[in-house]
Amino acid sequence: MADKESYGGQSKNMKYYSTNKQVKDKSFKEVLFEGLASDGGLYMPESFPVISEEFLKELPNKSFTEIALEISKLFINEIPESELKKIVENAFSKDAFLAENGGSDLGFAGGFPTPLVKLNDKLYVEELWHGPTLAFKDFGARFMSRAMGYFLKQSGQELKIIVATSGDTGSAVAAGFYNVPNIKVYILYPSGKVSDLQEKQLTTFGGNITAIEVNGVFDDCQKLAKQILGDKELNGKGEFSSANSINFGRLLPQMFYYFFGYASLAKNGLKNIVFCVPSGNFGNLTAGLMAKKIGLPIKKFIAATNINDVVPEYLHTGIYRPRPSQKTMSNSMDVGNPSNFARMIDLYENNAKLMAKDVVGISVTEEETASIIKSVYEENGYLLDTHSAVAIKAAQESKISEAIISLSTAHPVKFKDAIEPIIGKKIEIPEKLKETLSKEKRAILIDNKLEELKKALKEN
Ligand SMILES: *Cc1c(COP(=O)(O)O)cnc(C)c1O
Repeated sequence: MADKESYGGQSKNMKYYSTNKQVKDKSFKEVLFEGLASDGGLYMPESFPVISEEFLKELPNKSFTEIALEISKLFINEIPESELKKIVENAFSKDAFLAENGGSDLGFAGGFPTPLVKLNDKLYVEELWHGPTLAFKDFGARFMSRAMGYFLKQSGQELKIIVATSGDTGSAVAAGFYNVPNIKVYILYPSGKVSDLQEKQLTTFGGNITAIEVNGVFDDCQKLAKQILGDKELNGKGEFSSANSINFGRLLPQMFYYFFGYASLAKNGLKNIVFCVPSGNFGNLTAGLMAKKIGLPIKKFIAATNINDVVPEYLHTGIYRPRPSQKTMSNSMDVGNPSNFARMIDLYENNAKLMAKDVVGISVTEEETASIIKSVYEENGYLLDTHSAVAIKAAQESKISEAIISLSTAHPVKFKDAIEPIIGKKIEIPEKLKETLSKEKRAILIDNKLEELKKALKEN
């Protein structure tokens, strides 16, 4: 049963359970630091407090951070409201961030707006990529890092985060944790195997972020990171953690932009709004389902995938058939066994028919992706990245007659190698990135050996 919370109230006793049902009664703090539950399941809140009518009515007059604060209060009862306010402002408002960092924007130049761009009367794009790494994963990373920072400051403890990356995840984590007190981050990346831009995004932070360049491939980095996490000598007391992508602390802040996008359209009198979500591991979509669950009246969702279509297939057939992923130009969505599917079936009691009432699954081919990028560019003068393009194509295919907000998850420049040949033009590099590209790379080069990594960790 959902316990009703009045607007302005904070959850008194929110607990979390694991989707594998062997673990329950966990606090937000425990969930935040554990990431994955010990039974291998994913954490979910025991109840979904419902937002008030009053909050919904006032939504169009609220700022992003005001919305963020109201929603976080429903799920977090261990952080006082005044501190939660600081966390969301520092994560999502430019002014608060500048103030806290002595006027230096530290790669956070644009602030974090989520503007709505109108393609036509029925179709809107909500741009979620105005954060420091130009992709929507910044949302989750920024909120999670600041929430962790709050608890660590309370206890005076230090946490070391070790992540292996093939490119993009590492930069979102580095940017998210940059300058967060009590946290040190070590990023392991394969030497010569990431793009120049990605390498600069990983290696130019300095401060509490240390980049370690490994003579090896991504799997070697992954293996080294796991060895450190399991190492008795180095990690006997659990000082090391991974910035797990299935962390509930990353999901929660993704609810905010559903509310904000909805409010932007509701302001113009539009109702029955549908969200279209370009999906890979389905964290983004799951956050939307939770937003609906706590009372945002979203009419329907479109789960848009590239040819990696296990979820659309499940919605059509009721059978879940995980399989190895296929490579596409929307490669952040190349997932053959989406981690958040466990949360989705938990929300719908393992009933595909029930889920299909809320979610329409549509899969898009490579040819369709290329052709929609070209036509939207030529007809609307709007450039989509490869992931956002999958969603726009799915929105069109859906034949849904209500207004659709299609989520845009990355700036096109991040995938320019795929996009430039499609539109036959060069994509201009934004100022923010030019600045990053002009900075000096700083990384510790090691061979693919545990002993070398241990030495680097001890010295840095
Ligand atoms: C991660 C990612 C996605 C997929 O998001 P999920 O939450 O994993 O479904 C889509 N687009 C881009 C650009 C991404 O980086």
